Amino acid sequence: MQFTELGLAEPILKALAAKKYGSPTPIQAQAIPVLLKGKDLCGIAQTGTGKTAAFALPSLDHFARNPKPTPLQGCRMLVLSPTRELAAQIAQSFRDYGRFLKLSVEVVFGGVPINRQIRALGRGVDIVVATPGRLLDLIDQRAFTIKDTEIFVLDEADQMMDMGFIHPLKRIAKLLPKERQNLFFSATMPKEIEALAAQFLHDPVKVSVAPQSTTAERVRQQATFVNQAEKQALLNLTIRSEDIDRALIFTRTKHGADRVVRFLEGAGIQAAAIHGNKSQAQRTTALQAFRHGHVKLLVATDIAARGIDVSGVSHVINFEMPNVPEQYVHRIGRTARAGAEGIAISFVADDERPYLKAIERTTKVKLDVVPLPENFVEAVRNLPKAAPQRKGREQTTEQKVKRAEGQRRYQDQQKQQRGTGERAHRPDGEAAAPAKKNFRRRRGGSGVGAHKGAVQKTGGRA
Ligand code: AMP
Repeated sequence: MQFTELGLAEPILKALAAKKYGSPTPIQAQAIPVLLKGKDLCGIAQTGTGKTAAFALPSLDHFARNPKPTPLQGCRMLVLSPTRELAAQIAQSFRDYGRFLKLSVEVVFGGVPINRQIRALGRGVDIVVATPGRLLDLIDQRAFTIKDTEIFVLDEADQMMDMGFIHPLKRIAKLLPKERQNLFFSATMPKEIEALAAQFLHDPVKVSVAPQSTTAERVRQQATFVNQAEKQALLNLTIRSEDIDRALIFTRTKHGADRVVRFLEGAGIQAAAIHGNKSQAQRTTALQAFRHGHVKLLVATDIAARGIDVSGVSHVINFEMPNVPEQYVHRIGRTARAGAEGIAISFVADDERPYLKAIERTTKVKLDVVPLPENFVEAVRNLPKAAPQRKGREQTTEQKVKRAEGQRRYQDQQKQQRGTGERAHRPDGEAAAPAKKNFRRRRGGSGVGAHKGAVQKTGGRA
């Protein structure tokens, strides 16, 4: 089947052609015809199946065929997402697919100032993608209303429940108008999610794609048994021996993620972390750096990484095993996207063996057991210390990238100079030793520029 057979409006087909999408994915082929008829939909599908386009394309088609002014301080379509990253990604998809339509798309989530969002929503927008907490904040401040919503999408419902959004969702359900189209997506459909779906949906058509156990068939799955305390040494060796384009490393806790990053940095390996304790700016920068390949390793907790669509992730490393099998499927689904092949490597400590068993039972795939590398004992013995925990403001990923580049340049220069027998020079070309002296002497001087220059130079060495 081709997209052209689905009866979508011309500007949408043009956008799809620009993105080089030829045929719809299974969830799109099932969902789009139903949604074009205006029916409610309950979809069991996870990220990576193309579900964003499954709900975005027919909705854009509706707006293309039924142009209307946007309601003041309101929207025509509301999409709820559990995480900020996923919300931003969904909004971007709407912009991409709707680029030949004159529609406004806004994304609202917490962790960033609310005033800009209030201003952006004031005139009304066609499509709002929001996380539940910030949406309710805006409604409570009377800056926004959802009473005019024509299409409502609840995405990643099971994660919403995991994250404790049940009460915000119930409130939001009451604020929506009676007449509307509802779309509900969840990767899993246990009883409590079904009950939640029943609150939103009216006589829905149910579609389901790729049962969990088959999602990751293209992922080569390996497990290595290792003591918890020795995992960091194994990680360092794995990173150095594997041919990694981009790797996502999962830990169970935020603290654990930071620890892994510090140990990697201690070993001279650059990595960024993404988890709930990071500010929104840090999360966005880390994700961008990872997306653009400036940082090859992203250490993440499950919540932060769920729904993230980054192409070219060659490896997923489970530094700690998830205690829920579905979480494992989500994690390894971050690699092998869009037909690519990927590798998932799991570090399994003794107390995690039951998790591995449960995972194998759910996925019906037995992981290949890979023994510890030959030089492992030595690597454990010589494990570099963790980089010290930074006090005060943490370095941003941008700063880390710059620092890594500086370090690399410096090391290259040193190598070169060792070759030519010259004295070691600092990366900015200044001789290292006199810098302090310069600083003292210049501080004594009256020139503002001199002072500034000296401070910068000293700072460059930190
Ligand atoms: P999603 O499950 O919505 O996160 O989409 C997963 C990835 O598949 C995204 O990178 C989309 O851009 C891509 N994608 C979605 N639909 C198609 C399609 N019909 N053909 C090719 N790629 C697609």
